[in-house]
Amino acid sequence: MNLLWFRRDLRLSDNEIVSLATANNASVLPFFIIDPWFYQWEDVGQARVRFLFESLENLHNNLQKLGSSLTLFEGNPVEILQQLTQYFLDRQQTPKLYFNRDVQVEYGITRDRAILDFYRSRNLDYHLGLNHFLQLQDNRDRWFAEYYTYQRATPYPAPKNINTPSLEIPLPQLSFRQLKYKYREFWQMKKVYFRGGETEAKTTLRSFLDRRFEGYHWKLSRPWLAQWGATSHLSPHLTFGTISTRQVYQKTKAKAIELSHIPKAEFSLKNFRDRLRWHDSFTQRLYFHPEIAYQNRYPEFDNWYNPAELSPQKQALFQAWQDGLTGFPLIDASMRQLKHMGWMNFRMRAMCATFLTINCGISWHHGARHYMNYLVDGDLAIDNWQWQMQAGITNPLSETFR
Ligand SMILES: Cc1cc2nc3c(=O)[nH]c(=O)nc-3n(C[C@H](O)[C@H](O)[C@H](O)COP(=O)(O)OP(=O)(O)OC[C@H]3O[C@@H](n4cnc5c(N)ncnc54)[C@H](O)[C@@H]3O)c2cc1C
Repeated sequence: MNLLWFRRDLRLSDNEIVSLATANNASVLPFFIIDPWFYQWEDVGQARVRFLFESLENLHNNLQKLGSSLTLFEGNPVEILQQLTQYFLDRQQTPKLYFNRDVQVEYGITRDRAILDFYRSRNLDYHLGLNHFLQLQDNRDRWFAEYYTYQRATPYPAPKNINTPSLEIPLPQLSFRQLKYKYREFWQMKKVYFRGGETEAKTTLRSFLDRRFEGYHWKLSRPWLAQWGATSHLSPHLTFGTISTRQVYQKTKAKAIELSHIPKAEFSLKNFRDRLRWHDSFTQRLYFHPEIAYQNRYPEFDNWYNPAELSPQKQALFQAWQDGLTGFPLIDASMRQLKHMGWMNFRMRAMCATFLTINCGISWHHGARHYMNYLVDGDLAIDNWQWQMQAGITNPLSETFR
């Protein structure tokens, strides 16, 4: 029995573990684990959780079309996986666990290690795949070459059917109806700007490459145009893996070849592909340096930027920034957009971060946390490093830092 554990790779196409686990009509149990630990935090992010749930539901629907379904377990993932494994062992079926690497900080790293230790200690087989390009041994000189080799390789095809036997597993489970009810504070939003799921991800990419990409290279700096779709709006999809960066890369490259007689179009698409690469390079950085999610890259700045509680005066300033009440119209409009929409374009994210850190002298730790609380695409790998960049502390020799 192949245990197919989805995490932040919520798609059927170009998904290494889906392709391998379902090969040769093997018996497969696709599942996701709702870990209540995540939902207790203030900054878990309503827009993001809603996007996740919608993506899970879409994955379930797409699996059903192939004769399968997505089982939702609820509980501590280490315990669930141990019990699930034992369930099959008790029935003389040898389980093989498939999951993709997910770049995490302490909690996720410890969790994955415990699961792998359990499998190794029982001499059980597992397959640890790649969700997107990731160098496992630090070799900076080869990073670019390996990145492009990965992006140009043939994507994993989606399965045509999936063989999932009917099972009565005595572990805590949720139906989608129960999920939406139990976690309803995340589900009920006044207005939803970003719909989750692989189906939606493909539609979003198609609409971007059909027309929206035109003028991307200059429109991306215009908040109004970016909000209305001049940038791809694929960020939450890339965060939750409802589409792979490789799929986006290859479709974009094909479009650029088709339009090679229009230099401006090619230029826009090249700019876009560069940003896709940034996505993977930020993830790569967190993989080798998980500490940068919370610490300054250079301790020289520890006295200046740290997560210590703010003085009452700074707290008032921070509150005004969060609420969009600083008196600076562009900052205020952007900060209100973040709360309302769960999204801001790149330049506005950068400007508001610089304003808080450099102009207000408030540590990036506070701002990054606020962004994570509201961004539908919140990704620690990008958010926290971008905050350090905008605070001017990723290069101690740079003159940005005042
Ligand atoms: C302070 C700050 C915090 C940020 N936090 C996040 C975050 O939590 N999650 C997130 O996905 N992006 C983050 N970004 C990067 C960027 O703003 C968003 O990726 C982008 O605005 C998303 O819109 P889009 O999908 O339309 O982007 P597009 O312009 O269409 O770009 C395509 C994709 O490339 C990647 N990308 C684009 N810009 C960047 C960048 N500067 N760095 C790394 N990858 C990039 C994203 O995956 C994006 O979806 C942050 C930027 C700043 C300045």
